Order: sequence, then C-alpha cells, then structure tokens
Amino acid sequence: MLHELQISHQPYECWEAYATPQQMEALRKSAETMRERLAGRAFWTVSSTAVGGGVAETLRPLLGYVRGAGLNARWVVIVGPPDFFRITKRLHNALHGEGDADGAARLTAEDRCVYEKTLFRNALELAGLVRPGDVVMLHDPQTAGLLPHLVRLGAHVVWRCHIGHDTLTDGVRDAWDFLLPYLEHAAVLVFTRAAYVPPQLAGRPIEVIPPSIDPFSAKNQVLSEGAVRAILAHVGLLDAPAYERDACFLRQDGTPGRVDRAADVIRLGRAASPDVPLVVQVSRWDRLKDPLGVLEGFGASEELLSEHGAELVLAGPNVNAVADDPEGAGVFDEVVDAWRALPHHQRRRVHLANLPMADVEENAAIVNALQRHAAVVVQKSLHEGFGLTVTEAMWKARPVVASAVGGIQDQMEDGVHGLLLKDPRDLPAFGHAVRKLLDAPEEARQMGARAHARVHERFLGLTSLFRFSALLERLDA
Ligand code: UDP
Repeated sequence: MLHELQISHQPYECWEAYATPQQMEALRKSAETMRERLAGRAFWTVSSTAVGGGVAETLRPLLGYVRGAGLNARWVVIVGPPDFFRITKRLHNALHGEGDADGAARLTAEDRCVYEKTLFRNALELAGLVRPGDVVMLHDPQTAGLLPHLVRLGAHVVWRCHIGHDTLTDGVRDAWDFLLPYLEHAAVLVFTRAAYVPPQLAGRPIEVIPPSIDPFSAKNQVLSEGAVRAILAHVGLLDAPAYERDACFLRQDGTPGRVDRAADVIRLGRAASPDVPLVVQVSRWDRLKDPLGVLEGFGASEELLSEHGAELVLAGPNVNAVADDPEGAGVFDEVVDAWRALPHHQRRRVHLANLPMADVEENAAIVNALQRHAAVVVQKSLHEGFGLTVTEAMWKARPVVASAVGGIQDQMEDGVHGLLLKDPRDLPAFGHAVRKLLDAPEEARQMGARAHARVHERFLGLTSLFRFSALLERLDA
C-alpha cells in the first residue's frame, strides 16, 4: 500500500535567525501568494523512500515549512516489489554514467512492463487522493511513470530529477530513452544542474534548483561539544564516558530528543579516543560513494596514519533500512571483506559503522555529531548528483575533501571551501589531500569558515523556498 507520511508544521518565521529583514518580508509575501493561488488544493510530493539518502533528507524540512506557510502539503511514498527497485536502481546508476559500456545492462521490454505495472498500481491508489487542480511534485526515475496517470487526473505535475551526468554517454542516453515517454506532459522539469538536462528535453519548461539543507534539523542544528561527545560515546564511536543526559538534540517538533540506540560497529578493539583525528565519510552503502576506495586510499596512506594517528570512520544507514536501495547490504559486505583483508596495523585504524535508522531524527543527530567531531570529512564519490553530505560538513565548518564530480563542483571551490579531487580514483591524491588538511589546522579552519559562509549564502532551505515559490507561480495552476 502506498503510504502517506506525517509532515510536521514548521513556522517559517524561524528563518529570522538566518535571513535579512528583506528576505523575511519576501518570504511572508510568497507564502501569502501561494496560499491564495493554491487555496482549496493540495500540494503533493511523491518519492520512493521516506528515509536514507539526500532526497528524503531535503524533503522533510522543506515540506514542513510549506505546511507552516499554510499550504496543504502532503507526502506519499510509492511501494513496489524488489524487482521494481532493482530496475530503478539500474536506471539510477545509468543516469549517473555507470551503465554498461556494451549496453548489456540496458533495460528490456520486460523491465518496462514491471516498471509500468508497479506504477500503475500506485497510480490507482493516488487516484483516490489527488484531485483535479492539485499540484504534484514527483521525485526521480522511480516515480516518473506516474506522470501520465496524474496528468489524466487533472493534476499539474512537476518532475524533479536529483541525479544526472555531465556527459551524454550511451548508458545515460539509454536511461533517458527509457524515461522520456513518461515526461511529455510535465508542467515543469526540475534539475539539480543545467548540465544534467538531456538534449532531448531542450525547449521544455526547465528549472535548475540545487538541493538545500535545513539548519534547524537534527542533522544540522548546533550541538555543544559535550553533546557531540556524549552522542558518539553512547553509540559506541568514541571511547569516552557516555553521559546519557548529554546525548541530546532538539526534534523538529521542538521536543527534546535523546540518542538511545547504539551503532553496529565493526572494528578491532576499542573505539577511537576523543583526541584522535577522525577522517569521516557518511554515505549510503553505495558503490558510487566508493567506500572501498576510501578504505584502500586511507590504508595506503601510511605516512598520514603514522604522523597524525588519524583513524577512519565509514558510516552509513543500517543496510536494511533504505527501501529504494537494494544494493546496500551487498556493498557493505564488500567493504567488510576489504577491511578484513587490510594488514592488522591498518585495520585497527578503521571503523565501519551501521547507524540505527529506527528513529530518523536520532540517526540524524548521530550523523550531526560525527560530522562535527570529524577532523576531516571526505566524500570520495565516483558520481554525485549533488553531495548533501558535503554541504552538511561545510555548514559545520569542517574541512572537506571531495571528488570534483557532478554537483560537488558547484558546491565548493577547490582550495577555497575545501579540497577537490580531480580524479576520485587517484588514491595517492586522496591521501595527500587529507594529509594536507591535517598538517595545516589553521588553514583548514579558515577553509571551514568560508565553507560555512558559502552554505549560508547559497544552500540553505530559505533559498529553496524562494525557488519553489517562483516555480509554483510559473505553473499554469
Ligand atoms: N545519511 C543519513 N544517515 C546515514 C547516512 C547518510 O542521514 O546513516 C544522510 C546524509 O547525512 C545525507 C544523505 O543521507 O543527508 C545523503 O545524501 P547525499 O546527497 O550525500 O547522497 P544520496 O544518498 O542522496 O546519493
């Protein structure tokens, strides 16, 4: 059964903490215009998972503000059999440029049949919810096939694609050939970067909107040093006293939350001591995030290990928790195998953590603490639509080493807001970049400060709210 998610009510007035009076006035005005334009109609969001990954992460707070502005925002998550999510994962990888060079992984007519049947069943359920005139925003390839059904219901449908590849390889073209028939009647198509728009969509109504983060969420809110330590000690990632009363954060609804669950950590011996510099990558267990490359690159940087005593934490969501990512468990197993194959002295400096996902906000607070405690945050992705973890680390003023791929190239400037890896597969360059930041803490601190300012200026939810309100105005709704 298609399921509808709870959206909390976020007063948009809280943006006063980060916005200028002029921006607040503009926000009030757009909220008013939107309320008038959409009076009596709903604004639907349809995605393929409620937890795990950047899409769910950005949607939750934004929809809260849309509700807070007085609009009838609703959020539903589609359901489908494992075969459907295997097909959509292949589409996802292909759109990132990781389709098979020889086309062997090209989707077949049978795959299309599974895809369409699944979305048809979801559309039947949506037909009981969506009314003519409603606005529906569909997210990513998993939901594209719903578009013609919703247009037939009389809805104004926007499709947002969070992924893409800068060059049109054969695999990318195949993936677009699969999707294009469904997109014909989209009112607007939204992309994260202009370079991701395939040539076949030239001339269509397109908006380019980069994803944003919410500074008030459990993931990004300010945490005291004491809370950071207590949270990490409690989950088993730091060897420090776990004062439970300090392992606290503020939930989106304003009530206090506490980190109660532990992480499932694979390591030799004890957790890292608080004074050990941690190199941290937080990602879904996905080959495109290259956890194996991070492990190998870190292991191979002997110099870095011995001089700074740095340790590596690779953390991701519990492998069974992300509904639309069937590859997580397999990728995690590969990482564990590679970890076991490391020489003992390297292995004891690497911690593999599956973070609890039963409570999304608790998970977010753990990620928050981990990012804040990190000496260096890395994101060595092979492809990336937009690296939300990079923005999150930048907001926390952490020095970042990230691959110069996809949206990350827009997020930071090399040497100004962090260090970019021209070739993410160049392991010595990776080790060297991490080492550079550890060697020069003052320079790293300044980069972190500039990174924070850049996120404030470009990548906070406030900017997205303005962009979406402009988009709604553009709809002939
Ligand atoms: N994330 C999380 N818990 C985890 C691992 C990841 O909340 O255990 C979040 C991470 O903080 C970020 C999102 O998942 O907000 C990943 O977004 P990103 O754009 O980096 O990658 P995606 O998963 O969308 O490809």
